[in-house]
Amino acid sequence: MTTSSYPASPVFYRKLTRRYPSIARGEGCYLIGDDGRRYLDACGGAFVANLGHGVAEVADALGAQARRLGYVNGTMFTHGPVEELAGEIARLCPGDLDLVYPLASGSEAVEAALKLARQYWVEAGFPDKRKIVALSPGYHGNTLLALSASARQHYRSFLGGWLVPVTHVQAPYPYRCECGGRPPHCVSCTGELVEAAIQREGPETVAAFIGEPVGGSSSGASVPQPDYWRRVREICSRHRVLLIADEVLTGAGRTGTWSALEPYGIVPDLMTLGKGIAGGYVPLSAVVAPRRLVDVLGRGSGGLLHAQTFSHHPTLCAAGVATLRYLRDHRLVDRCATHGAIFHRHLTALRELPFVGDVRGRGLLAGIEFVADKETRSPFPRSVRFAEKFAETALDTGLVVWPNVGQVDGTSGDLAMLAPPFIITEDEIDRIVRLFGQALLATVEQIGAHP
Ligand code: PLP
Repeated sequence: MTTSSYPASPVFYRKLTRRYPSIARGEGCYLIGDDGRRYLDACGGAFVANLGHGVAEVADALGAQARRLGYVNGTMFTHGPVEELAGEIARLCPGDLDLVYPLASGSEAVEAALKLARQYWVEAGFPDKRKIVALSPGYHGNTLLALSASARQHYRSFLGGWLVPVTHVQAPYPYRCECGGRPPHCVSCTGELVEAAIQREGPETVAAFIGEPVGGSSSGASVPQPDYWRRVREICSRHRVLLIADEVLTGAGRTGTWSALEPYGIVPDLMTLGKGIAGGYVPLSAVVAPRRLVDVLGRGSGGLLHAQTFSHHPTLCAAGVATLRYLRDHRLVDRCATHGAIFHRHLTALRELPFVGDVRGRGLLAGIEFVADKETRSPFPRSVRFAEKFAETALDTGLVVWPNVGQVDGTSGDLAMLAPPFIITEDEIDRIVRLFGQALLATVEQIGAHP
């Protein structure tokens, strides 16, 4: 297989220290190298390829739209694909989330949602409401405001001085919190911490609370208690703080319902979507907002101060429309729920493996947390780079997983995330479990660890 690396290639790679195998095409749940080697894509790239690879309907819609109209600017014209996409997303989102502002990346959507929250309060006559409260662990993107809201310690060493202050509170994280997910629940699991933070900051100064309804990669698919979001909704409403549900990773059906918030039965003030809404065929994201917020801008400044050349993009929106149609026509969100249950049943076998501390998640989203000691739940020293080594070994075995680190204290903690396409079969789930086990044993051998 062709491999390329820095510095020989002209590509400025994401990682300058590894060799990149070259992928020629994708087919269903598989990625195929230019020598024919097949990789089982057990994480949809980065929680993106929900439909699977090589879906002709999306490719055709994309090509047809590019031929018809590749680009017009969102300040000058509207067009069929953006109208259709907005209508579809508004229909899928709960309550009064009716207006859709399409962008490209998840970071852009989070950036825009936070700015919208701030602009809303200024235009509504509450200019002191500027603070953001967010969860830790949590991740919301890499542009500077989204990164400020993210509890990612390692970015602070380079960018600390550029990030704006954001108040972080402990996310619901049953594997490591005081109550261990069992009643009586601790203050991070009940949402009381969110209220304490808002009160400490002064509700009249807090613009928004942002959180991932089900944890993404940073908390390894931790699922909050059934009451958590109802409580947080009530706290935010009482203190007039806008509740932003960041569904960039969990939206578009990933947890078995269109949004991960759906089973909690509440409506946020703003929702961000990304990743899966165009199945990875193009970058597409969106901020979804209610008219009651947007009307304030409509009567005031006349628009959201978030100018981006590629917002409301015809080709990207056409890919989004085709993706949503494909999800609906093939009932893939329902399939994600039914196969999610099968997936989690099979994944329980991983608990028996050495160094697997926890296996959790919902739908076709799972986090597997590695620990040095299953009893004490103590993590590996960061210097071991367990998650990274495991992911490389899994790749050598033919399995693509998503590693993440830092969930214990901002630095240590090792996770592998799984998020296969919604078309995954039970045989393929079996294969994921088998390859996962092989890769784990090989990693353990490589680092010379003893359970
Ligand atoms: N929000 C969440 C919850 C995410 O998981 C991510 C990316 O992983 C983002 C926002 C940022 O999205 P992007 O990487 O497309 O900018």
